Amino acid sequence: MKNQWKTSHQNIQNWYKCHGRVDLPWRTTDDPYHIYLSEIMLQQTQVKTVLERYYFPFLKRFPTLKALGDAPLDDVLKMWEGLGYYNRAKNLHKTAKIVDVLPSNIDELIALPGIGKNTAHAVATFAFKQPVPIMEANVKRILCRLHKLSTPTDKMLWQIAYDLVDTKNPFDYNQAMMDIGATLCTPKNPQCEDCPLNEVCQGKDDPTLYPTKKKRKVPTREQYIMISVYNNKLSLTQRSGKFLHGLWGFSSTEVPLCASEYIGEVTHAYTHFKLICKVYVYDELDKGQAHYFTIQQIRKLAISKVDEKIVKLYLDTI
Ligand code: SF4
Repeated sequence: MKNQWKTSHQNIQNWYKCHGRVDLPWRTTDDPYHIYLSEIMLQQTQVKTVLERYYFPFLKRFPTLKALGDAPLDDVLKMWEGLGYYNRAKNLHKTAKIVDVLPSNIDELIALPGIGKNTAHAVATFAFKQPVPIMEANVKRILCRLHKLSTPTDKMLWQIAYDLVDTKNPFDYNQAMMDIGATLCTPKNPQCEDCPLNEVCQGKDDPTLYPTKKKRKVPTREQYIMISVYNNKLSLTQRSGKFLHGLWGFSSTEVPLCASEYIGEVTHAYTHFKLICKVYVYDELDKGQAHYFTIQQIRKLAISKVDEKIVKLYLDTI
């Protein structure tokens, strides 16, 4: 098996040189901050979106970890706007306040806010060239198929990943495994005939059986959104709860005000639930926590995707 894996490592390296996404900017740098940023942005977000809209503007605004830590959280959230999962941005900011330079030690990386085991391994191998594996979703799928595993535990997968990693060239090996998972060993219709792991793969006869898919029913939540409009300005509050903390948004109530007018609804799909917002406007001054902003001012605030949709709905109705 060891010899078989030596051959596979060579096949993986050859495949990566011809077919890998070797030009991605976070693969042509060894700056730990740039690599760390890309790892955080790429959680839950596609490469194309990160590459075309977020990675470069963020680095331009915050070129170093120190510059990020010195910036106000509002500025960080504004640069993150639209990327979603704002805890990622808040944890980046917290980390930048703790360290100016990222440590290379995996345990020290994991001790920083928002850095899990996979991100720590990714920074360790991509920035510091350590011979350790990574374990993102694409790699997990490959490992399950290689060993015909339907419902493995994370511990089992990490053990296998450590056994298989190419310790002589961990950078290319790990990048290649992600690319193989993204382009060949896809959830549906994997292209086993083109795969450099074909010779050692036990699951290639029926790959889509591995791993077993968990069926998840996503619940729906409904909210009444109240927009107070006063002197052509709209009321928003800065969120202080755990959800969307720090972003500006419209207030919700349990029951719409009698004097308000219904203007329509917007929906938004989060990972764990679907949100339906029924939107009402009224023309009285909100004497609570709200601040008033013109549309131009709102465009400069950090607001969530769903609040952006509400602004658009409002503009469509006036
Ligand atoms: S041979 Fe097929 S199932 Fe196995 S790793 Fe390659 S693409 Fe995936």
